[in-house]
Amino acid sequence: MAQIPFYEVNEAIVAMGGEDLNLCMQCGTCSGTCPWRLVDGEFFTRQMIRMGQLGLEGYESDDILYGCTTCGLCPERCPRGVKIIDVMRAMRSLIAEAGAIPAGLKTVLGSVHGKGNPWSEDREKRVSWTEGLDVPTFSEGMEYFLSICCTSAYDVRSRKIAKALAGILNTAGVGYGIIGNEESCCAESVRKIGDEELFGKMVEKNSQLLSDRGVKRMIVNSPHCLYTYREEYPAMGGEFEPRHHTEIIAELIESGKIKLEKPMEAKITFHDPCYLGRHSGLYDVPRKIIQAIPGAELVEMGRNRHNSLCCGAGGGRLWMETAPEQRFSDLRVREAAATGAQILATACPYCVSMLEDSLKSTNLEDTLKVMDVAELTASCMGL
Ligand code: SF4
Repeated sequence: MAQIPFYEVNEAIVAMGGEDLNLCMQCGTCSGTCPWRLVDGEFFTRQMIRMGQLGLEGYESDDILYGCTTCGLCPERCPRGVKIIDVMRAMRSLIAEAGAIPAGLKTVLGSVHGKGNPWSEDREKRVSWTEGLDVPTFSEGMEYFLSICCTSAYDVRSRKIAKALAGILNTAGVGYGIIGNEESCCAESVRKIGDEELFGKMVEKNSQLLSDRGVKRMIVNSPHCLYTYREEYPAMGGEFEPRHHTEIIAELIESGKIKLEKPMEAKITFHDPCYLGRHSGLYDVPRKIIQAIPGAELVEMGRNRHNSLCCGAGGGRLWMETAPEQRFSDLRVREAAATGAQILATACPYCVSMLEDSLKSTNLEDTLKVMDVAELTASCMGL
């Protein structure tokens, strides 16, 4: 990558929200906190910040900047309050402007731009997951627009989460509807990858569509969509009220609109998705649902809630190759198995995908089953 004068880089990072860059005193707490220290990898957060301070000097490989999963653990510990993810995002945007994004991630950006999803799937298949189900189309006045994450719309495994959620909403009589094939990705990965221009265009396009349809409140099944619509869209003009499906399910249980009548005699441990927990503060909500299941016992992993271990999929890394010895999710399924749980519950399509893959690579498929909280709920409702 052509070297940009360091002061220009520094100014650009500051302008993009990474104004804390220069507060960093290089203590290394972030590197010591980062999940990469647990695996055989070469990513060091402190080094990434130093590289930003020096004007991206030494940027040679994707390992330095694209290792970050944006899990949010290090900003919680930084003694100087550096918004490390904002700094990293700003640096990635400079890399993107220089055209140096890793090749695999360019495909993701091209797909979001051309097809409205990161999976290179046809727009026409966006609602294929509804086949055989009675899923209403959203119309103005309905309480919620149901926005199913691209992963759960297209991935065969993940579609089960969308189907379970629709079944729950139908049974409870919730007023909701989907928009259909016109809906596009919220673009959370686009921003984390560094393409600010495309992110801005997607926010504008999506906000226009939702406003035109009269959307005010939303149900989303991905914590990544939740964070993006709740924390990032408003600053760019997209004011909607997104709620994660676990919030809705917990309320439906509490109000008696759904009943978990089918017991599940099992130990269940919960993996906090980074964007549900650390980024959105929803720790108790999914646990309340598990605790409402008759016969189930909630058991905690050593690393839970604020200290939860990232599955490794955030920050665009879902679409990057990760060497077997570098997979955080392998560590996570071993931690889950050590609790004696039979079910590893979570509430994010990325986490489900990563954790299920790791069950195979760690030979734990006969020990543990990965389930989204929506699937657990639907199962206990007999759906
Ligand atoms: Fe810099 Fe904060 Fe990391 Fe310490 S923890 S090296 S101050 S970013």
